[in-house]
Amino acid sequence: MADHYDVLIMGAGPGGYVAAIRAAQLGFKTACVESRDSLGGTCLNIGCIPSKALLQSSEKFAEARHALAEHGIKIGEVALDLAAMMARKDKVVGTLTRGVEFLFRKNKIEWLKGRGRITAPGRVLVTGADGAAQQVEAGSIIIATGSESAPLPAFDIDEERIVSSTGALSLDRVPERLIVIGGGYIGLELGSVWQRLGAKVTVVEILDRIVPNMDLELGTALQRVLARSGIEFRLSSRLAGIRKTGDGLTLELEGAERQTLAADVVLVSVGRRPHTAGLGLEAVGVACDEAGRIIVDDGFATNLPGICAIGDVIRGPMLAHKAAEEGIALAERLAGQKPHVDYDAIPAVVYTWPEVASVGKTEEELKAAAIPYRAGKFPFTANPRARTNGYTEGFVKILAERDSDRVLGVHIIGPDAGTLIAEAVLAKEFGASAEDIARTCHAHPTLSEAVTEAAQAAAGRAIHI
Ligand SMILES: Cc1cc2nc3c(=O)[nH]c(=O)nc-3n(C[C@H](O)[C@H](O)[C@H](O)COP(=O)(O)OP(=O)(O)OC[C@H]3O[C@@H](n4cnc5c(N)ncnc54)[C@H](O)[C@@H]3O)c2cc1C
Repeated sequence: MADHYDVLIMGAGPGGYVAAIRAAQLGFKTACVESRDSLGGTCLNIGCIPSKALLQSSEKFAEARHALAEHGIKIGEVALDLAAMMARKDKVVGTLTRGVEFLFRKNKIEWLKGRGRITAPGRVLVTGADGAAQQVEAGSIIIATGSESAPLPAFDIDEERIVSSTGALSLDRVPERLIVIGGGYIGLELGSVWQRLGAKVTVVEILDRIVPNMDLELGTALQRVLARSGIEFRLSSRLAGIRKTGDGLTLELEGAERQTLAADVVLVSVGRRPHTAGLGLEAVGVACDEAGRIIVDDGFATNLPGICAIGDVIRGPMLAHKAAEEGIALAERLAGQKPHVDYDAIPAVVYTWPEVASVGKTEEELKAAAIPYRAGKFPFTANPRARTNGYTEGFVKILAERDSDRVLGVHIIGPDAGTLIAEAVLAKEFGASAEDIARTCHAHPTLSEAVTEAAQAAAGRAIHI
C-alpha cells in the first residue's frame, strides 16, 4: 500500500517548505519531496542566503580597507582570507538549512528524500539517490520546484571559468578580471562581492539600462554609484562569442560597435527559468505557458484537479518572499480559508551598496497608464542619521495618486533601503495615503525619517529640504 498524505509538496524552497509548515499547522498530514541533500531550496542553499553572507563579508572587507579611517579608526594592513570567508558563508547556510529540518520535525512533516515525478493526479513516484523508488499518494499535490539559471545558448557553463551564480558563490580565488553578463540584481550583487574583494568587474547588458524592472531613476542612480566604485558598464551590448585563450577568456561584444574584452572569469546571469523538467507534467497533462511556467488560476490551481503550483515555477517575480506568500495562501485555501496575495505589494530589493528597494508602480508604469500622480522625493544627504553614519548616497521617492493621495509606488536607493521599504509595503497593504505616512511620527535620528519627508515632499511641505 502506498503511503497517503493530505498534502504532498514537491520542492523544499521558500515556497514549498513554508507551504508545508502552514499545511501542517492547519492539521494536514503533510510530506515534502526534496532531491537536494538539504532543505531550503535555491534561496537557502545557492541563492539569497549565501549571496547575502558574501555581500556582508565583502562589505566589511571594503569598509576596513577604505572607510574606517574617516571615523578615526586606524588598523594595520587588511588582508583577505577567502577560504575563511567562504567557510563562514557555508556555516550560515548549514545553520539555516538545518533550521528548516528542525521545523519539519517540529511540525511532523515528512521529508521524502529524492526526486518526485507525478505519475497521475494524486500519485507521485519518489526516486532516491540510490535509485530506490517509492509510490506515494496525496489528496493535493503542490508543485514548488522553483527555477534554475537560464543558460546562454552556445556558451557552456563549466562553473570554473564560465560560471553561473552558483559557481560565482564559491570561486576559490579572486579573479583579476570578472565579466558579468546581465545587469539584473543577481549579476550586480555578485559583481559587487568580487569587485570589493579586488576583481576588476565589467557588467555587460544587452539593454540600455541596468535593473530594467525597477524605476528608471533608481537604475540610473545605482549605475552611477557602482561606476564610481569601480565597476564598468557596457550597455546596449550583446555577447557574441567567448574564446578560451590559455588561462584567460576573450569575449566578443556586439553593439553600436564591436568590442573585445579580456577576462579570467565570466559570470552568466541572464535570468532564471522555471524548473519543470522530469516532473511528468507533459505525461499527465499539466499545462505550461510559452515561457515554460506552470499555468495556474488565482487560487494556484493548475488545469488538473488536485494539482497546484507556487513560487518561481509560476508567473510573477522570482523572489523568495513571493514564493513564501503563495505557499501560505495556498495551504490556507486548501483548508477552506480565503487568503489573497496582493502582487502590487511585493517588494523587490537589490542588496548592492547602496541598496535599492521598490514596491508598487514605477513612474514609467504610471506614465504609460496615464495615471495622474504626484512625486515626493527626499535625499539622504539631508537626513541627519545618514550624515552621522557617513552614508548619504541616494533618496526616497514616493508616488501618490494625484487626487486621492493613495500611495501607488515607493522607490528607495540608499543605506538600508531593503529594511526601509517594509513601511511602504505596509502602507500599500493598508491603502494608505502619502499624508498618512507624512503624519506618522518617526524616531529621530533615523534613516526612516527620509520616508516621512518624501511623503511630506509629495504635498510640497518637506521640512529639511
Ligand atoms: C544568487 C541568487 C540570489 C538570490 N537572492 C534573492 C534575494 O535576495 N531575495 C529573494 O527574494 N530572492 C532571491 N533569489 C531568488 C530566490 O532564491 C527564489 O525566488 C526562491 O528560491 C524561489 O523559491 P521556490 O520555493 O519557488 O523554489 P526553489 O527555492 O528554487 O526551490 C525548489 C526546490 O525544488 C527542488 N526540486 C526541483 N525538482 C524537484 C523534484 N522533481 N523532486 C524533488 N525536488 C525537486 C529543488 O532541489 C529545490 O530545492 C536569489 C536567487 C539566486 C540564484
